Amino acid sequence: MQYEAVIGLEIHAQLLTNTKIFCGCEVKFGSEPNTHTCPVCTGMPGVLPVLNKKAVEYVIKTGLALNCNISSVSRFARKNYFYPDLPKGYQISQFELPLCEGGHVDIDVDGETKRVTLNRIHLEEDAGKNIHENSSDRSSVDLNRAGTPLMEIVSEPDIRSAAEASAFMRKLRAVVRCIGVGDGNMEQGSLRCDANISVRPVGQEELGVKAEIKNMNSFRFIEKAIDYEIKRQIKLARDGERIIQETRLWDADRGVTESMRSKEGSHDYRYFPDPDLVPIEVANSWIDGIRSSIPELPDPMRVRFISDYKLPEEDAALLTSERSTADWFEETVKLGGDPKTVSNWMMGELAKLLNDENKDIDECLIKPGGLVALLALIDKGTISGKIAKTVFADMYKTGKDASVIVEEKGLVQISDTGEIESIVDDIISKSPNEAERFKGGDQKLMGFFVGQVMKATKGKANPKIVNELIRKKLS
Ligand SMILES: [Zn+2]
Repeated sequence: MQYEAVIGLEIHAQLLTNTKIFCGCEVKFGSEPNTHTCPVCTGMPGVLPVLNKKAVEYVIKTGLALNCNISSVSRFARKNYFYPDLPKGYQISQFELPLCEGGHVDIDVDGETKRVTLNRIHLEEDAGKNIHENSSDRSSVDLNRAGTPLMEIVSEPDIRSAAEASAFMRKLRAVVRCIGVGDGNMEQGSLRCDANISVRPVGQEELGVKAEIKNMNSFRFIEKAIDYEIKRQIKLARDGERIIQETRLWDADRGVTESMRSKEGSHDYRYFPDPDLVPIEVANSWIDGIRSSIPELPDPMRVRFISDYKLPEEDAALLTSERSTADWFEETVKLGGDPKTVSNWMMGELAKLLNDENKDIDECLIKPGGLVALLALIDKGTISGKIAKTVFADMYKTGKDASVIVEEKGLVQISDTGEIESIVDDIISKSPNEAERFKGGDQKLMGFFVGQVMKATKGKANPKIVNELIRKKLS
């Protein structure tokens, strides 16, 4: 029997507001514990929450970018549970009337576009953080994070594989960053993913029992954990064993998911409307204003890059995955760079250098005009394509202009036929055996002779002239 996986994702994205969702405390990470707290976010008796309008705006903006319906009236609810990092004993979230409903995200996997529908996007507060100290038997609570605005994006169970889940998460991350509502930093936990996974025989309508994997914060973990969980459940189903509804955690060291607790149903949380907060009424004029502030999104931008710049799909997808990368590309082309050549440099040399140092393109010392100037030196024959790569690495390190580096290091390409000819003659006379074999038809030795000339000229000889001369001399 063939089985298929049914996966729904819940993505938590921290919103880039200056202050927390219900108080004026600054949202700041890496500070001393409990230095960004007040009576509201520490859950003191008698305090009242005041809603941060920016947080609502950011959720609506995301909803519009993801084709959702924006609710004209929505409401906050209390989600009751007990945990030391939740001082009120309940989390303020949304239940019956979320800010956004419906919507969809298109993902591309294996050359096919697939639509994943969304159930909802709602707004809630984050909890604090428990710190377990290994050196003693103590645990401490840091409430700096308590009250940070979070948006939860919930998909329908339309996803069928780990690759689709990862593509969905990547697309959401690109949109969230593009519209400026979140930084999408998964390492720091400002974007994290829970996955509800079940399996069923192919063709069966009814859903299987699901397990939830919590708090995955890297694309690699998402893929591995979901892959593992699908295999685990299929094996249980094949062996005729029962799959339990539970919450599981991914153990990255051991490469397995492990049971954490039996899964709560929503009734376990005793949701009820929060009496401290009035319902949110969203005026159409406000929605229109937010809509007009949304920049070009990654999907339409990718389509435009393919048609305007005649780029292959893969180039366009990579260049438009980050707004700053797309801007850098367009600026370079505007200054005269050939689109495909610029794309090759950005996806090749530049991406490699940035990845090595884990840097963003904004921090790069090479500016669009710098690459255009380098490309012009190649076009004019001043330097070879190969030398250009070392010049580029130098530009990256020092921020100097290409022409300055070429000058300082004496990298100008040798295109003087007479000069190259004397070097070629010299090498042929030193390698009589190879010369005979080449003349006898061993074409592979071409590489040997070109290599020798390049070595003698420190890579500066014009390769086209070198090739021509060697053929002429040895035919
Ligand atoms: Zn506070």
